[in-house]
Amino acid sequence: AKDRGRNQVCFFEQDMHAAAQERLALLQDLKSAVDNDALLTYAQPQVDAAGQLIGAELLLRWPHPQRGFVPPAQFIPVAEQAGLIVRMGARVIQQACATLAELHQQGRALSISVNVSPRQFRQADFVEQVRAALHSTGAPAALLTLEVTESLLVENWQDTARRMHELVALGVRFSIDDFGTGYSSLAYLKRLPLYELKIDRSFVQDAPSDANDAAIVQAILSVARHLRLRVVAEGVETRQQADFLIAHHCHGLQGYLFGLPQPLRDWLAGLKG
Ligand code: C2E
Ligand code: CA
Ligand code: CA
Ligand code: CA
Repeated sequence: AKDRGRNQVCFFEQDMHAAAQERLALLQDLKSAVDNDALLTYAQPQVDAAGQLIGAELLLRWPHPQRGFVPPAQFIPVAEQAGLIVRMGARVIQQACATLAELHQQGRALSISVNVSPRQFRQADFVEQVRAALHSTGAPAALLTLEVTESLLVENWQDTARRMHELVALGVRFSIDDFGTGYSSLAYLKRLPLYELKIDRSFVQDAPSDANDAAIVQAILSVARHLRLRVVAEGVETRQQADFLIAHHCHGLQGYLFGLPQPLRDWLAGLKG
């Protein structure tokens, strides 16, 4: 029994070792991808209740030379932990602003949303970065939406609020991503300069059929209406889901029903057709 115990500890350590090695290998590959500018930026359309295009969310894609496309759910946390997300995120913001400027020149008032990770948001020069990106491209700031998660609001409340106000003063807008999936209280909703809530796809999925999910979606829309916040639902895959959301006055819809994420360049080219 003693021997077996020792063996188990040994296996456990091997597993830990293997997982750490795997993580390290992924991080090294990701670093070189960032250095070589090999990450791709995709865009997924957002439409209004009438089905009219209103903008797009930018999503990172990593085509790994051996592994194929690595899911963001795998590489974003690694990038966040290692701090690499700061460079990755800065590039996405620069691309978002360049895109907004291009759309503006074509006379299209479409919004562009980007995901901002906590580590990125907390960079000392984050506000300056956004200001510089807006300035160098001439992008209309009011059409840039920064999506942050509730995890950002749990710690350093004062700093977060101050920084948000600085960014809103530049003209940009804030959206709470995956709304309702975090562990924060709702009190922040009235104290932060927010523009939009994004309903997580876990609630959208079964809202037409599951009474609990329907209640959550309706509650989110009701809170948003009273606080004068816009709402975008993500992960809309079926007509039933879309109809349910529209019937309850959801403003924006995003999901496979309306468009898959596609390379940003292709999405822009498709607008002209
Ligand atoms: P998210 O911000 O909640 O993004 C929405 C996710 O839902 C995307 O997954 C999108 O491809 C997926 N999706 C869109 N429509 C549908 C649908 O109809 N059905 C289903 N099942 N899924 C749909 P993706 O691209 O794999 O990204 C996962 C997460 O990775 C994102 O979740 C976001 O948190 C993070 N991420 C992606 N790009 C960036 C980035 O540039 N910066 C940061 N910080 N995070 C990013
Ligand atoms: Ca998002
Ligand atoms: Ca989500
Ligand atoms: Ca998210």
